[in-house]
Amino acid sequence: MPYSELHFKRAWAEISLDRLKKNALYCLSLLPPSCQPMYVVKANAYGHGAVKTAELLSGELNAGWFAVSSLDEAAELRHAKIPGEILILGYTPPQYAGELISCGVVQAVTDLEYAKALSCEAIKAGGRIRVHTAIDTGMTRIGLGSGGSCGRAVKEAYSISSLPGLLAEGIFSHLSSADGAGESDREFTASQIKSFLQIKKELARLGFVPRYSHILNSAGAYIQPGEVSSFARFGIMLYGISPSPDICLDGKIEPVMELKALVAQVKEVPGGVPVSYGRSYVTGGRTRIATVTVGYGDGYPRLLSNRGRVLIRGKSAPIIGRVCMDQLMVDASGIDGVTAGDTVTLIGRDGGECISAWELAGSCSMIAYEIVCAVAERVPRVYIREK
Ligand SMILES: *Cc1c(COP(=O)(O)O)cnc(C)c1O
Repeated sequence: MPYSELHFKRAWAEISLDRLKKNALYCLSLLPPSCQPMYVVKANAYGHGAVKTAELLSGELNAGWFAVSSLDEAAELRHAKIPGEILILGYTPPQYAGELISCGVVQAVTDLEYAKALSCEAIKAGGRIRVHTAIDTGMTRIGLGSGGSCGRAVKEAYSISSLPGLLAEGIFSHLSSADGAGESDREFTASQIKSFLQIKKELARLGFVPRYSHILNSAGAYIQPGEVSSFARFGIMLYGISPSPDICLDGKIEPVMELKALVAQVKEVPGGVPVSYGRSYVTGGRTRIATVTVGYGDGYPRLLSNRGRVLIRGKSAPIIGRVCMDQLMVDASGIDGVTAGDTVTLIGRDGGECISAWELAGSCSMIAYEIVCAVAERVPRVYIREK
């Protein structure tokens, strides 16, 4: 086994490639024929491993498009010889025009000034950069037309389409509220889609018909707004996590990542004994404490001190005291036979019990996206294939 695949068990993340594939097939099933999937593998595929994720999707599902957030992330995929197109959703300094060209990637452009700078650098580098122009339809993050100034967005997108050194092959926008359950969220999403289609129509009137136009993220595709987008940019749902606790996808997608660790030691203590830094927990009576080999240095949120729970031998055990950098303690009084070396499930299923990323997130005012993205680099990803 190559060294990079070896792992000496302490804290590790099991990544099910079968579930990843199943989730991707579910994502595909949501799309009308005019819409292709673009798999979002930014932030190391939300902590799941960008190269392995992209390899599976291109190898087994013929995935044609990936989205990342930076040139670094794009270069990692190219270095791993991932075929397929790559869209960089975030900012790349114009000085890297040469790298954008040699990597053969597509760059998002945020505004006219940036497009002009990129155009100059592309000419200097002696090539053309493929770009998708971002349109701000209400997210107020990147793109043309902030604050609803559609007329200006159209003019600028049109100017960008004729800049030398650039190949303006797409326009795109991002939905801010497609995961919301409220009436006003639904209305806002509809208004974003409407402005986007309006801008597309006016560009066509000027004679610019981009090859691609896309606005849907996971939640946007889930609400199935019809034929409005050439791509659905699937992130969170691909990893088997719902975009929001308000959207129930049980039975449709399955979490790809399980986070596990080991029991290092078990000790029985009487009542009145303080546990961990700061003595924030004091045992109420005789307690069996299990020390677990994971902590905030592995990305497990310290905010779960005295709030979270873990699974051991199919049973739930509450975290007591503060989460340390490399270890945490749980009250394992209710778990018969618990012993050093037992597997501890921080995220995932053990017997009939399950802890989801949303459960962890809910206990500490986070979102499930943060939980999986935060799993530290030192936690080995162990890829699992059953079939
Ligand atoms: C991250 C991101 C996505 C994916 O969003 P999910 O909610 O994870 O599906 C899509 N589009 C853009 C522009 C993004 O930044």
